[in-house]
Amino acid sequence: MNVLFVASECTPFIKTGGLADVIGSLPHALKTHEHLDVSVILPLYDEISQDWKNRMTFKAIVPVEIGWRNQTAELYYLNEDGVHYYFLANTFYYERKGVYGYYDDGERFLFFSKAVISSLDYLDFIPDILHAHDWQAGLTVAFAKIYQPIERMKAIFTVHNMKYQGLIPLDMYEDFFSLPREHIGGMEWDGMLNCLKAGMFHADKITTVSPSYANELKDPYYSEGLHPLLNEREADFCGILNGINTDEYNPLKDPYIDVPYSYSRAKKKLNKLALQEELNLQISEEKPLYVMVTRLVEQKGLHLIECILEEFIQEDIQFIVLGTGEWEFERYFSYLANKYPSKSAAILTFDEALSRKLYASADFFLMPSLFEPCGLSQLIALQYKTVPIVRETGGLKDTVSSYNELTGEGNGFSFTNYNAHDLLTVLHYSLRVYHDNENWKQLCKNINKCKYDWKHSAAEYSRLYKSVLTEQGVSQN
Ligand code: ADP
Repeated sequence: MNVLFVASECTPFIKTGGLADVIGSLPHALKTHEHLDVSVILPLYDEISQDWKNRMTFKAIVPVEIGWRNQTAELYYLNEDGVHYYFLANTFYYERKGVYGYYDDGERFLFFSKAVISSLDYLDFIPDILHAHDWQAGLTVAFAKIYQPIERMKAIFTVHNMKYQGLIPLDMYEDFFSLPREHIGGMEWDGMLNCLKAGMFHADKITTVSPSYANELKDPYYSEGLHPLLNEREADFCGILNGINTDEYNPLKDPYIDVPYSYSRAKKKLNKLALQEELNLQISEEKPLYVMVTRLVEQKGLHLIECILEEFIQEDIQFIVLGTGEWEFERYFSYLANKYPSKSAAILTFDEALSRKLYASADFFLMPSLFEPCGLSQLIALQYKTVPIVRETGGLKDTVSSYNELTGEGNGFSFTNYNAHDLLTVLHYSLRVYHDNENWKQLCKNINKCKYDWKHSAAEYSRLYKSVLTEQGVSQN
């Protein structure tokens, strides 16, 4: 069975967040299922390193019709560790700094979606399953169903984050889509063209990245208004928990960290000492170190952090944040780092190497998200034997259970309501457990047993692919 992943980012080529981790690791897990051959198609961004570009081979010039304009994309190919990667290049749309954030992002990914469909004739295989991810690939599903380039091909659409829907002005439909108006209903939402809705509406099956988020999405608050569509498609909708590549995120083999370790807390602490020195914090292996590695956006619970962190930092602790994003939050963390230079640091950039040092050095990883479709950072933290502190939402709820001193069960700390006092209470609780030898040992022991690789979830996707190919009449189209 041939599966084609369509996405806007993928490790090790280009990454801004968890989507890249998933697209970079799930195909490798799927290919261990004998009947599956997995390919991934991505835009060829300027930011992808020249080393990768040198390893790609040119395959074809693909004509892409955008309204009255006849454009082209260049198709490149690379095989990496048994997974086939295809890249679509276009000077105008992708030779820019960064990945997102341009006024014409809608048009850039509309072009990508059309180019993917046009490139199906030029691939080395015929996809049985088109598996599209997030709004940037949503229109691919719509075009696949409307144009039917490969009749028997089924489409799966995965929502990694409902917050980002890819809205395009409606008048672009006439200019860019070259489609009869009857198709507009499956793409229009609230007076805009909505790429995420287009993907969900046209897909044979819809998935999201954790069972709890799948439940939450039936609620207007979490679904950002799209719950009627999901409720209508309930039979075709499910949540499959993300995993991580435990070979890549492995403190014993990680080339970015100072001292490799597996279960030894003593060796883990050596990483803390090295990081404290690197960031000019007070050097002390005993001081509990709390960290965040995150996009600095409201979703990540930063309004709660702003309310209580300065109070909590009065304790004998240290805090480091690595992240980029909204100015309000960057300014807050800079203020804190300037005011408490021996206890706090803010590194306001995207830095893969430093992120690994933080995961390896920290005692606690903070993730009090407002909502969290799955969250990979808490899984990476657990993999580095760092205790996650989370709010019970989405995938955080499915992967972290709060430590209970009475039963000795739990792999982290959590709180329910989106409330800063509750977060502060749980932070104090974590500190108490840290200083209580027996309980801390028990918690670390529980964490050592955690496993969040792809094995189980890849098998679920594999079953889903099989079922959608054998099912009759699942598609509404
Ligand atoms: P999201 O996809 O919503 O950003 P996830 O927790 O699913 O959140 O995934 C975030 C991924 O991005 C993790 O691999 C995390 O380590 C990484 N990441 C986030 N911010 C940074 C940063 N500033 N530098 C390096 N890695 C980062």
